[in-house]
Amino acid sequence: MTSGSHQLAVTQAGNRLVVKVGSSLVTNDGQGVDHNAVAQWARQIAELRHLGKEIVMVSSGAIAEGMVRLGWTRRPTEMHELQAAAAVGQMGLAQAYENAFAPHNLRTAQILLTHEDLADRVRYLNARSTLFALLRFGVVPIVNENDTVSTDEIKVGDNDTLAALVTNLVEADTLIILTDQSGLYDRDPRQHPHAQLIALAAADEPSLESMAGGAGSHIGKGGMLTKVLAAQRAARSGANTVIASGREMNVLVRLAQGESIGTTLTAKQPVWSARQQWMADHLRLRGRLTLDDGAIKALLVDGKSLLPVGVKAVEGLFEKGDLVACVDRAGQECARGLINYSSGDTRRIMGQPSQKIIDILGEADESELIHRDNLVIMNRAQANPT
Ligand code: GLU
Repeated sequence: MTSGSHQLAVTQAGNRLVVKVGSSLVTNDGQGVDHNAVAQWARQIAELRHLGKEIVMVSSGAIAEGMVRLGWTRRPTEMHELQAAAAVGQMGLAQAYENAFAPHNLRTAQILLTHEDLADRVRYLNARSTLFALLRFGVVPIVNENDTVSTDEIKVGDNDTLAALVTNLVEADTLIILTDQSGLYDRDPRQHPHAQLIALAAADEPSLESMAGGAGSHIGKGGMLTKVLAAQRAARSGANTVIASGREMNVLVRLAQGESIGTTLTAKQPVWSARQQWMADHLRLRGRLTLDDGAIKALLVDGKSLLPVGVKAVEGLFEKGDLVACVDRAGQECARGLINYSSGDTRRIMGQPSQKIIDILGEADESELIHRDNLVIMNRAQANPT
């Protein structure tokens, strides 16, 4: 991990970038869409397009802009009021981006997503094809969460996470999170005047989460922690993340030219296949299987399938083909996968050798509970249970 200035051309090589701008930037700390700021980003993105880069924007600010348009001074707590504010404010966002890109002869497209859109494989692939088509047509997609229909069960929850999911969806090389702070500091800079900016670190560096621990601004949803977690998520598809101030002059162009601004969190884990990535990006799973130590070793060390004999407990209501988590005795997720049996059948065959499935259920479609082709390892560290 390095602090202070450090030259690193991570984004220079990147050809597809996801740029996320937070609510406090977009709405100038909640005062309504900052047209000047939006115009600056549009100018820079137009320049990047000329350099041959493809850009997807993830923009927050719908709720903050909606509040201004409706004359509300305090953020509501009721879900339907938040949803109403988002519906009103999203018009302002769309208008602002369309107007700002028009002088550069660039079209924008509005993409509103919920977690459910990304969790369903067919809808995920549809969203992906549409985004790729838009990029091919030279359009700049502007993504936000579909706040108007998002309830707790189906929402992503914050746009840092959404931006990471979009990064994985479009296989971007770099995720740039623009915020109202200069980057990630080793301590909260608002309380510690000597806090040091982290210029470069591996996204999976364990100490980052505690450094980022504090709360964020009162306007947006995510603090630094959601940004660090987003960087970890983006790193799983091989993307680097930059967290930088959106108020820094020409920040996007300078980053794309390889200048080091803010914090760069690099990806170094092995890259997953698109299908494994899709499984790993689910925020909510249908069920949980508690595994014994033998099964954990079989999955994590030996790369084997999960058999019913290694399952100690089953939670949740799921169908054949649903995505479930595999946890250790402490409840820590070590893998996840698409299960071959419903929750009812899994409860009946758990702890039993595979040859007994036919006696218990009357039929045996598969001898594995989760085939290794349908499994993704989430945490290899648990391979040596103590
Ligand atoms: N989707 C929300 C909005 O546009 C913002 C969520 C966030 O800032 O993380 O207001």
